[in-house]
Amino acid sequence: MTIAADRSSELFIDGHLLPGNGGRFPTLNPATEEVLGTAADADAADMDRAIAAARRAFDDTDWSRDTALRVHCIRQLRQAMRDHIEDLREITMAEAGAPRMLTAAAQLEGPVADLSFAADTAESYPWRVDLGEAAPMGIRTRRTVVREAVGVVGAITPWNFPHQINLAKIGPALAAGNTVVLKPAPDTPWCAAVLGELAAEHTDLPPGVLNIVTSADHAVGALLTEDPRVDMVSFTGSTATGRAVMAAAAATVKKVFLELGGKSAFLVLDDADLAAACAMAGFTASMHAGQGCAITTRLVVPRARYDDAVAAAAATMSGIRPGDPTNPGTICGPLISQRQRDRVQAYLDLAVAEGGRFACGGRQPAERDRGYFIEPTVIAGLDNTSQVAREEIFGPVLTVIAHDGDDDAVRIANDSPYGLSGTVFSADPRRPQSVADRLRVGTVNVNGGVWYSADVPFGGYKQSGIGREMGVPGFEEYLQIKAIATAV
Ligand code: NAD
Repeated sequence: MTIAADRSSELFIDGHLLPGNGGRFPTLNPATEEVLGTAADADAADMDRAIAAARRAFDDTDWSRDTALRVHCIRQLRQAMRDHIEDLREITMAEAGAPRMLTAAAQLEGPVADLSFAADTAESYPWRVDLGEAAPMGIRTRRTVVREAVGVVGAITPWNFPHQINLAKIGPALAAGNTVVLKPAPDTPWCAAVLGELAAEHTDLPPGVLNIVTSADHAVGALLTEDPRVDMVSFTGSTATGRAVMAAAAATVKKVFLELGGKSAFLVLDDADLAAACAMAGFTASMHAGQGCAITTRLVVPRARYDDAVAAAAATMSGIRPGDPTNPGTICGPLISQRQRDRVQAYLDLAVAEGGRFACGGRQPAERDRGYFIEPTVIAGLDNTSQVAREEIFGPVLTVIAHDGDDDAVRIANDSPYGLSGTVFSADPRRPQSVADRLRVGTVNVNGGVWYSADVPFGGYKQSGIGREMGVPGFEEYLQIKAIATAV
């Protein structure tokens, strides 16, 4: 496996690497706008075959009951990814525009390592729990609660952290005994297709257990949400698409697991080291060009120190030049596509129209005439009612908002349709706890603490999603519960 300029990838259906009925579609390098190569373009008939294969593998084989085989195959996949980690790194930088620095963590090496957690959880999980005997309605009964796989899982994923999101679905779904059809974003087909290549060459995964269907057409992925043979849809992407997924899944009452958008707040309390906190907020908002669902993009600071906070954030973000993702020093790479850059640019224009001003950035970098880059940008002069403070921009853009004390900071943070994540900074070790407890979000970073870890559940409140990924709750999303009552 290499990242040759003429690389092409295939579908992975029923254990075979296959071309797509729809021909091929190009995958681009967002840092250079060059075509890297092509991916197989699936049509509806290809998706139908993949779903049929997954259904057969679930219904007609022992996969869902053979925990030892599942654990073995997941460990093989993990090892294969580790053995090809440098090829995977090249693909991730080229196709997703992910900075090299981040591939050592959540963009690649972290999620590969975390496949162990899924395998280990399956190995030690209490699949059958004996509730003992009782006599409900006078009938002596032994009660057992059994956990088992949901069935066929349709996994639909975005492009921003392709390995993290693909593996955080495939790992626990397979470990729990499901079969999977993965439909990745059209922008990052190779990051998913390589899993099929590695599975075919280096694992004993039975045919049909894992299927990977790349397509330029969103409608092909939508088939997973409608097909009665699919028991569950595990979706990560925008809230708008999440609503469509949920609505489509309602017709067949599928289990739906949603990881959606965010507009998370970074709260600086009035006793905090303002310069250090704002520098961290600026750095975080610039990472991977701000293309992370849980990135804190509203910096909420004490009103009396608003100007200092804007200056500190701008000092950090103006020092971060968007650059070549393969450069070890780059933290802010390109946006994924022209469409995304146009979208971010439209929000920057809106910020000005709403009365905001740029303390830094606000445009495409003059030194980059190729690639979908935007300068890290600090927007000042707006409050939390502005559209740029309320909507997900998905670019390296930080809006600074004033608060009037801890209660007001909590109110502002929670005044959002989203509820994915948040950060609290304070010099007091106890004070941020009360703030963290009141935030209506799925993860909170206090004074720089890191919640991203294989054993920590991640997910959203409100319109940021339903369910949790990672940790034991992330494994249990892929389980059904059955109670068996045996008269004794
Ligand atoms: P998107 O919603 O446009 O697309 C996500 C996936 O859904 C893609 O594979 C796409 O092909 C597919 N899709 C599109 N329309 C569909 C439909 N009608 N039915 C079924 N599938 C459909 O999102 P994106 O632009 O690829 O990714 C960015 C978004 O993802 C942001 O909103 C970001 O916040 C969110 N995200 C959330 C998390 C999280 O864990 N909460 C993580 C990463 C990204």
